[in-house]
Amino acid sequence: MTSRYDILFEPMKIGPVTAKNRFYQVPHCNGGGYRDPSAVAAMRRTKSEGGWGVIFTEQVEIHHSSEIAPFIELHLWDDDDIPMLAKMADAMHSHGALAGIELAYSGINGPNLYTKEVPLAVSPGPILTFTSDPVNARALDKSEIADVRRWYVNAAKRAKTAGYDLICLYGAHGFGIIQHFLSRATNQRTDEYGGSLENRSRFMRELVEDIKNAVGDSMGITLRLSLEEAIDEHSFTNTELREVIEMHRDLPDLWDLAHGSWEDCSGTSRFKEEAAQQNLVSGIKALTDKPIVGVGRFTSPDAMVKQITSGTLDFIGAARPSIADPFLPNKIKEGRFDDIRECIGCNICVTGDMTMSISRCTQNPSFMEEWRKGWHPEKMKPNRSDSKVLIVGAGPAGLESARALGLRGYQVTLAEATDHLGGRVHLERALPNLSAWGRVADYRVGQIQKMANLEVYLQSSLDADQVLDFGFAHVCLATGSSWRRDGVGRAHLRPIPIDAAMPLFTPDDIMAGKLPQGHVVLFDDDHYYMGGVIAERLVAAGCSVTLVTPAAYVSDWTRNTLEQGFIHQRLAALGINIELNRLVTRIDRNRLTTACSYTGDTKEITANAAVLVTSRLGHDELWHALKAREGEWAAHGVQSVKLIGDAAAPAPIAWATYAGHRYANELDEDDIGDALPFRREIAQLSGDVH
Ligand code: ADP
Ligand code: SF4
Repeated sequence: MTSRYDILFEPMKIGPVTAKNRFYQVPHCNGGGYRDPSAVAAMRRTKSEGGWGVIFTEQVEIHHSSEIAPFIELHLWDDDDIPMLAKMADAMHSHGALAGIELAYSGINGPNLYTKEVPLAVSPGPILTFTSDPVNARALDKSEIADVRRWYVNAAKRAKTAGYDLICLYGAHGFGIIQHFLSRATNQRTDEYGGSLENRSRFMRELVEDIKNAVGDSMGITLRLSLEEAIDEHSFTNTELREVIEMHRDLPDLWDLAHGSWEDCSGTSRFKEEAAQQNLVSGIKALTDKPIVGVGRFTSPDAMVKQITSGTLDFIGAARPSIADPFLPNKIKEGRFDDIRECIGCNICVTGDMTMSISRCTQNPSFMEEWRKGWHPEKMKPNRSDSKVLIVGAGPAGLESARALGLRGYQVTLAEATDHLGGRVHLERALPNLSAWGRVADYRVGQIQKMANLEVYLQSSLDADQVLDFGFAHVCLATGSSWRRDGVGRAHLRPIPIDAAMPLFTPDDIMAGKLPQGHVVLFDDDHYYMGGVIAERLVAAGCSVTLVTPAAYVSDWTRNTLEQGFIHQRLAALGINIELNRLVTRIDRNRLTTACSYTGDTKEITANAAVLVTSRLGHDELWHALKAREGEWAAHGVQSVKLIGDAAAPAPIAWATYAGHRYANELDEDDIGDALPFRREIAQLSGDVH
């Protein structure tokens, strides 16, 4: 049968190789890199299984003279790195995808904290990273530019040996030296590599020609360039990009277009819509005969088709949509649109890279656990008994455990106190610009509704007597959390003095529709998104707002989700008064006392109300009540009771879906005692320590 989505499944040539369809997983980091290569390989294998036509590695550093430690990407420094990269290429090939490798020389972006080499860049200057490392780069002389070209060729040959089909030359996000040559902001050279656009693109042209000569007969060569930059008035513009493409129209086998900074390119749903780069990409296809790939957090099949039929893109580029749903292409092919697990645009995946830990995904708890835990985003192992399971609480943790247990074939009963499913995401999706959060519930509710072995009871607030009387073999408590009203958080580990005469609110009150009036002081000691979002909500309700935080940045932790700058801009634009490096120390009627985080100097702020966004407490009362009666469990047929998600320890939504998935995976499994609950890779020890 033909369908209007068939166009997405047309084979497409990229130089000498052919992709089986237009689904193109652009390079993306994962916080695992060279430290967890098998975990990364298995993650890419899952995408091959899910139907992607092209799958790329993350950034691969081509030479030891340019690296971005402490961030954990991949290396191709010498032949020793080939086996690890070959394993990834094999995984990508497993179900017919083309294997792509992204080669990077970081230039002004690489501080070389690990190799201790002097950084080399297009022009001299301080290293431009997230971490303001106190290190400068020296300018490459012309013979060193030739060296860099040779290092790229060496890496390209090694990539070919490792089995890759595609090479992406990285010049976007501010991370690759090709962009540093192209941009007048980072290229201040006066030789034939600086000045005119023709000169600034000379390195790019020479590099592509070198690599085509070396491996272009069998490998497709792609150029990943910035749609525009936003560094200063000398930044690379979208007009210049169009001129570059026109000037070198058929130079690479494919143009891969991304934004000039990662923050701009990977905008969260709070700040950017699907297909947000449309205007910057539109019309570029007419300037070249080579195919174009672009990104835009595409999760809607219709939006994808429109990108192709409107002549905007040839390939649908995706990083986050491929993380949230590695099976996106197959689901579209099979017409299983309801089964698509849409990315919510929260950038929790990015935080794995930014914190150098390992990535997780709010929507897909199996992400990066495919090898470590043997998890699969679509399949669960069958049940090991016909035990009946009761899940209490239908937030992200309860919904995910219900979905995953249902998939295993268990008889599941889900009881929820309120008249709606979704728990915190049901409430948070109504906050300013967080509507995509609702997808966490929508996907799971949609899946659960199709399962005959699942029963859902709303308006069923359960107590310990009821839970015991029901007599389920297994009880999973996913009863969530509430925001504290006593000021306890990171700045204050004990409650602060609060006069009961001061109107006091928490995010729970605001989400329940109880709103303050007049001038409100919001104390944000949580540091993630909630403080800023509640401040926005208060402005929308007509309040004037002062946001006080002990951190040096508003919504400090959102530096890891690439949102912090956007949040500050938005709050400032809304007229919110931002007081950094201050903590609220006491709350009196009409007045809050604040103190400088460093000196303790106090300042009073008059206000009509206070809003505390400090920390949350888990709802573990039911758990304690049941634990206290453990002696009665057997008589009621209860074998296990577990507390999961926010009820156990409040955390971002991704932690709750992970907890739900884990519960479902581990139910009825053998007790592993003190053993490590995941696989890991240990570096091979060199024999000689002297
Ligand atoms: P999590 O993120 O861990 O899933 P949420 O706060 O989002 O936590 O969801 C918890 C859900 O549990 C809420 O929908 C809440 O109404 C429900 N709940 C809490 N206590 C009970 C209870 N005793 N019986 C039934 N449902 C409960
Ligand atoms: Fe999308 Fe969030 Fe998952 Fe990243 S963590 S892929 S942004 S849902």
